[in-house]
Amino acid sequence: MSATHINSYYAATANDDTRYPRLRGTVTADVCVVGGGFSGIATALSLAERGYKVVVIEAERIGWGASGRNGGQMIAGISGEHRIESQLGDAGRKLLTEIRYLGHDIIEGRVARHQIRCDLKHGWMEVAARPRHMEGLRSYVEERVAAGDGDGLELVEAADMGRVIGSDLYHGAMVDRKSGHLHPLNLCLGEARAAVTAGVQIFEESPVMEVAGGAKPFAATAEGRVDAASIVLAGTMDPKFQTGPLGGLLFPTGSYIVATEPLPERLAKAVSPQDLAVADSNVVLDYFRLSADRRLLFGGRCNYSNRDPRDVREALRPRLTEVFPQLEGVKLDYAWGGRIDIVLTRVPAIGRREPNVYYMQGYCGHGVNTTHIAGQIVADAIAGTMEKLDLFEKIRHVRLPVGQFLGNQLLALGMLYYRLRDLL
Ligand SMILES: Cc1cc2nc3c(=O)[nH]c(=O)nc-3n(C[C@H](O)[C@H](O)[C@H](O)COP(=O)(O)OP(=O)(O)OC[C@H]3O[C@@H](n4cnc5c(N)ncnc54)[C@H](O)[C@@H]3O)c2cc1C
Repeated sequence: MSATHINSYYAATANDDTRYPRLRGTVTADVCVVGGGFSGIATALSLAERGYKVVVIEAERIGWGASGRNGGQMIAGISGEHRIESQLGDAGRKLLTEIRYLGHDIIEGRVARHQIRCDLKHGWMEVAARPRHMEGLRSYVEERVAAGDGDGLELVEAADMGRVIGSDLYHGAMVDRKSGHLHPLNLCLGEARAAVTAGVQIFEESPVMEVAGGAKPFAATAEGRVDAASIVLAGTMDPKFQTGPLGGLLFPTGSYIVATEPLPERLAKAVSPQDLAVADSNVVLDYFRLSADRRLLFGGRCNYSNRDPRDVREALRPRLTEVFPQLEGVKLDYAWGGRIDIVLTRVPAIGRREPNVYYMQGYCGHGVNTTHIAGQIVADAIAGTMEKLDLFEKIRHVRLPVGQFLGNQLLALGMLYYRLRDLL
């Protein structure tokens, strides 16, 4: 049986159904990338653009994981910025300024160069869920403006919110006109196609079972193997690959999205007058935006037990209508979920498990742009420029020396704690 994408709005509107072959026999390459999500495809394309011979091995299909299922919000910066600043000081601040919009630049450049149809639009905002959150947004904008890096940012006061959203629930907002939203599966498929045009070989339905570094690095599946000078573990892999610096690092949690039926133009305009992507300021947050065909895609975490809800539609509907009472009774055409990997320090894990085995994972739900940044950092490192990879490797991560089961219980407790804090 051939692998299929989960039943989502994105899979139903994918504009490319290319199937790549299974890996059979031995193939050689300069770099073997394991994982065909944004991390893997972005890395492969960055390397192929520099002339490397690259093979990508994907267990299911390109974009099958979080990359083909997410909220499509392209948000500036990366997760864990405070921790990067506190651990790395000036070098951390410089790094953050250099990479803040790097993912956007890479995505926008590729969309334009390869004519990828992925509904890319500019405009994103964080809405203040509590009055005190507005103060945080205000000082963030002031700091960015003072650092000469505030263009595109604007504050919207509570009284003015009707200009940007058709909801009474929020206490103000920060708009970032340089961030935005897109159809993530179509971006991933379009980048994969561009990678193939640049010479990358892609294999699907080929789970990698063994990876080795050392003198003769390789990645092996049940039916084939790739011998390469470098291996990249692109995204979160099976627990057996989470060894060395990756041990005890990640805690998976679920996030879920519903897509309404297409809204009449007037209603869509009332809900989202400027077609912005929106995330609220809670730690356990809601995120939503309109699709190109005017559906509201509304996402969030709908329980705090760290178990999948039995019915995603019924679990998300109450929150959706609390935010937008005018959507009471609207049909929910699609509902799906995916896995978000949380790192306790919140800083994505980018580095080397061995000198020639690289990894990138743990974007904490902020991966659309960050995967592209990570892909460039790892491609730079393979090409000999180690500066940014070195900084990420210096981050001291917090690990829990507990098994996955206990880890999940702790994560559920942690989420409950943050949910209670969000409510206070
Ligand atoms: C519901 C949801 C909403 C989100 N919303 C947003 C958002 O709005 N904005 C944002 O910035 N981020 C968002 N994220 C996070 C973002 O989607 C991820 O951070 C990002 O897609 C991670 O990309 P990746 O390539 O590292 O992982 P993935 O996309 O999961 O790709 C990893 C790939 O590796 C493959 N694989 C695993 N093991 C093997 C193996 N042994 N052999 C071969 N292949 C293997 C998998 O099949 C998978 O295709 C969201 C995530 C979810 C789940």
